[in-house]
Amino acid sequence: MPAATDTGLRAFVRALPKVELHVHLVGSASVETVLELARRHPEAGVPAERADLEEFFTFRDFDHFLKVYWAVQSMLTDRHDIHTLVTGLAADLAAQNARYAEVTVTPYNHLLDGMPGDELLEGLATGRAEAAARHGVDLAWCFDIPGEKGVRAGRETLVFALRERPDGLVSFGLGGPEIGVGRAQFAPFFTAAREAGLRSVPHAGETSGPATIWSAVHDLGAERIGHGTSCASDPRLLDHLAAHGIALEVCPTSNVRTRQVESVAAHPIRRMLDHGLVVTLNTDDPPMFGATLNGEYLAVAGTLGLRYAEIAQLAGNAVRASFLGDGRKAELLAEIDQTLAGEREK
Ligand SMILES: [Zn+2]
Repeated sequence: MPAATDTGLRAFVRALPKVELHVHLVGSASVETVLELARRHPEAGVPAERADLEEFFTFRDFDHFLKVYWAVQSMLTDRHDIHTLVTGLAADLAAQNARYAEVTVTPYNHLLDGMPGDELLEGLATGRAEAAARHGVDLAWCFDIPGEKGVRAGRETLVFALRERPDGLVSFGLGGPEIGVGRAQFAPFFTAAREAGLRSVPHAGETSGPATIWSAVHDLGAERIGHGTSCASDPRLLDHLAAHGIALEVCPTSNVRTRQVESVAAHPIRRMLDHGLVVTLNTDDPPMFGATLNGEYLAVAGTLGLRYAEIAQLAGNAVRASFLGDGRKAELLAEIDQTLAGEREK
């Protein structure tokens, strides 16, 4: 196999079929999508001209990111807005050669903003159907609790998830700030969600230490950890995650943007890989952080000097750690193998 030239590496990453396991629906809104929403909702005061919007969208700091995020959230009022958001995400995923994504939706925030639950569900359903038919991207949903809104949000998210149980709902999550928002208080909701067959995928160890990850594992039965960055400072936790195959949804650009790490080079991803953890690469809130899925693979491959087989291994990890059925997993893994074999024959 030839050494990875820049062009060769780009083509290889592009050609790999990929799976995205950590992307927030609201945070996935691209400039294109937000232009459409801003024109539909002039009262929101979001720039409706491309140049102005691009400037507004450019990442400055975390506070500005929150401003952009909540501005997008404020324009989501009905099924059409949700549909626009979902199909916009599907088009962006297709452009990254992503075939499947588990997308985090925060129903409590939409309901709190006054959107009827049926509107949310209808927009998700029609958007998901169009994503598959028009873009060839299969979408699944993770309904997550906005942790900062407390146990009430936990209860209502659970009730909504189990009562509605929309097609494609596979998992139950927990997001928002970690410091001062203990994971354990949400344990009863995760227990009930798991008993109903939803998989547990809380954020933990993104903005706080390894104790939060331990709590996510012990109290919430986490099967995957959102971020998990701080696990690297706890050898016992590294052992535990490796032994139990608890995958990490690593989002390198997001971690740099939110200043949890200095740079991709300073990210503990090397340590995670060396310890045998199931590392997957993801984008979190891609356009708002200036990230793309292919970009994450390129950044990590370039920084760590990964070989093609190791890059393919990362893509395979995301397939294996996903909640796809075994048949679909096997198909995607075979395609990844073929892409790698094609590279070897060059
Ligand atoms: Zn996240």
